[in-house]
Formats: sequence, structure tokens, C-alpha cells
Amino acid sequence: TESPNPDGARARELDSSAVFHSWSTQGGRDAIAIAGGLGSTVWDHDGRRYLDFASQLVNVNIGHQHPAVVEAITRQAATLATVAPNHANLVRGEAAQRILDLAGPAFNRVFFTNGGADAVENAIRMARLVTGRDTVLSAYRSYHGNTGAAIVATGDWRRIPNRFARGHVHFFGPYLYRSEFWAGSPEEESQRALRHLERVIEAEGPSTIAAILIEAIPGSSGVLVPPPGYLRGVRELASRHGILLVIDEVMSGFGRAGEWFAHRADFGDGRESVVPDLVTFAKGSNSGYVPAGGVIVSEAVTAAFTDTVFPGGLTYSGHPLAMAAIVATIDAMKAEGIVEHAATIGAEHLGPGLRALAEAHPVIGEVRGMGVFWAVEFVDDPDARTPVSAAFMAALGAALRERGFLPLIVENRIHVAPPCVVTPAEVARGLALLDEAVTAVEQR
Ligand code: PLP
Repeated sequence: TESPNPDGARARELDSSAVFHSWSTQGGRDAIAIAGGLGSTVWDHDGRRYLDFASQLVNVNIGHQHPAVVEAITRQAATLATVAPNHANLVRGEAAQRILDLAGPAFNRVFFTNGGADAVENAIRMARLVTGRDTVLSAYRSYHGNTGAAIVATGDWRRIPNRFARGHVHFFGPYLYRSEFWAGSPEEESQRALRHLERVIEAEGPSTIAAILIEAIPGSSGVLVPPPGYLRGVRELASRHGILLVIDEVMSGFGRAGEWFAHRADFGDGRESVVPDLVTFAKGSNSGYVPAGGVIVSEAVTAAFTDTVFPGGLTYSGHPLAMAAIVATIDAMKAEGIVEHAATIGAEHLGPGLRALAEAHPVIGEVRGMGVFWAVEFVDDPDARTPVSAAFMAALGAALRERGFLPLIVENRIHVAPPCVVTPAEVARGLALLDEAVTAVEQR
């Protein structure tokens, strides 16, 4: 895709020649240059438009260029563009209070970070300091960020070349479609996954375990909505052994799952039946308009630092531009009913539409998700559930981009994660493009 616009050509050239890139080789890049966006759409320098069904990296929950958020950042920049975390600052306090109001009565402080990884990093540190224990249990199917402990807590392949932190042990979480436990129903998967976790805790030595760290809905690993009773069961296991439960809501929070926090949804035990000790957030809290994340801290954990120094901090903790973006994001999401809208889109449009696609295409093995947080899994053989080849997924990705659909491809899956503000008409269009692209690749 040659760009006739000189800025587009220059952006693509510099992207190859000057920028060192994440998770990839540094040669032979061919990225789309994004010049602008609005809502669920982005465009390149030549005005080619794309439906952003990845919300970039599943973070632009409020959509691109929401005017209230842009305005709040601009206003804050004109007032005070930066301030150190040791000073009180109104917009930081307002952001913390709004987040606490959403998190529920068990929490009484927010520690702000620059993004998701350092939120996880600091949650792990708090858990270790509070318990005096070392080990952190997390799932093989997980992603927690790209810093010292967070990347080793990550379960997927990315931890392996980065294993420089100690004290991390992994377990298998529930994933009925590829059950590690030979389960035949969601209930059985839940019970057996809990039994496995219990055995890991026993075998590791319960009194050495500081934290169980789990994503409310494992995102990068395939949008693995927990089966009934699983999250509740993990909470009970943690409590029984004096282990802190850290729930990572970096991807699943702030509307993505049609909830402010996915762990407060009803997964078979009623709403709000799981109360973590620490919650990490980032992405959707201000849709990444300015980088931010944080840890929501329960009263009990806060109390451990009443007279004991918390040995952690960041120059940009509670950065005013990021805080102004959080305040404006939460206020706009509330005023416009954006979280409820995301739930409705999932229940009435995206979910049914993706299931219909799965009916029509045997190459789709499973679709799962909630809200605007879905995964479509592609298989060669619906019975054996063998993942399709990397070449199939590359062809599908190209077919989608050609049609103006920006996909997020992970292994043999497309993660369908448009902004929470996506309209029914945009969903219909995205689904039609997906249908066309799958048909085109199937026919090759
Ligand atoms: N935790 C989860 C669940 C994530 O999905 C991610 C990023 O995708 C992170 C942590 C890391 O966040 P960041 O990339 O902002 O450091």
C-alpha cells in the first residue's frame, strides 16, 4: 500500500528507519500510518478509512477523539501541565475518588502508575510486603505487562526470554474449549480448575504464597470468560490461605466487558460476589489519551502502610494530564451511558452476529466474550479443534485490512474489540467485512 501523501510516506519510512518496535523483528515493516480518528474509525494520510475493531491495543474504550476528554486535557495543559506526586493536586484527587466510587466500599486508595505493567508491578510489591511472602501464582494463559515481575507473571511465551525475576509459579485457568481438565461442562471446568489451583497452592506451600494474580477475563490469551463459580472459588482459596487476590482489570475494565470492572459481573454467584485485595487498571480508564494506570488498594492493604513507608513511587504518578483524562472519561462514560451501551452491543449485536458467523463458517471453532470484548477462534477441523496455520491468519489479516477493518490477531484468533461507543450500524458493517474476508480466505 504505497502512500501518495508525502506525510504518509514519511511516517511509514521513519517507522522502519528510526523506531525500534515492540515484540517484533526490526526489519521489513509494512505498517499502516494512522493520521487521525473519530469514534470507532481511524484514517491514514490518504484518507483511507478503517473500522478500528481492535480499539488500538484494546484501550480506546471511549472511542477516538472524544471531545470532552480532548478538551479536559487541553484545559489542564493550559493550567498546569505537570506536578510532582508529593504535592496535593485537585485533579489527581478527583480521579482517585471517582475510581474508588466505581470499585466499591472495600477500597480506600488509588496508587497511580504510567500504565498497566507498572500497576501490576506495584500490586505484586504491595502483596509481598504485606504478607512477607514471596511467591506469586498466575495463569499460563495470561498477559500482565512488560516489566520485571509483570512479564514473568505473564503466562504466555513472552515471559520465557525475560525470566529474570524470581518467585513466579504458574497454573492453568479454565478454558473449556481447550480444557486442560477433560471437562465436559462449564461447571465441571470451574470445579476442576479450582481443584488444580488448590493442588498447586498445597504443593508450593501455602504459607509462601503472597498473591494469586489473575485477569478478571484473560484478554490477550483469548477472552476467556470465567465459568460459573471460578472467580468466587479463587477468592475463597486465597482467603483460606492468607493469600492476597490481585485482579488485573487492565484490559477487562472500564466498559470493555460491559461493566466498569469485569470481576463485579455475575459469573454464576450473583453480582459483586468477588472482592479482591488489589485491582490493577490502565487502558480504558482514560482510553490511553495520556498514558496512565494504577492499583486500587483495599482498606486492609492501605492499613499495612499507615505507619510503614511504602517503598515505591514514580515521577509521573498521578500526572495531571492523565488525571484530567481519567476524570473526563469517567464523567463522559457515565453521562452517555457508554458502559451500558457496550453491554447491549455485546448482548444484542456483536454476540449474536459473531455466533451467526460461526454457524456459517466451519473454520470458526468458537466465539466467546461479553460487551465489546470477544474472540473468534479459527480451526482447521471443528472436531479436532486444530488451530489454523499462521499463513491462514496472515491472509485473513490482509483481507480485513484491504476491506477497511483493523483487526487484532493473536495466534489463531481474531479479537473483536471495537470501542464501547461502536454503533449497531458499525457492528453490522464490521461483521459483514469479517464474513467477506473469511469467505475470501476459505476459498483460496
Ligand atoms: N495487564 C493486562 C491484563 C494487559 O492486557 C496488559 C496489556 O495488554 C497489561 C497488563 C500491560 O499494560 P501496559 O501495556 O499498559 O503496560
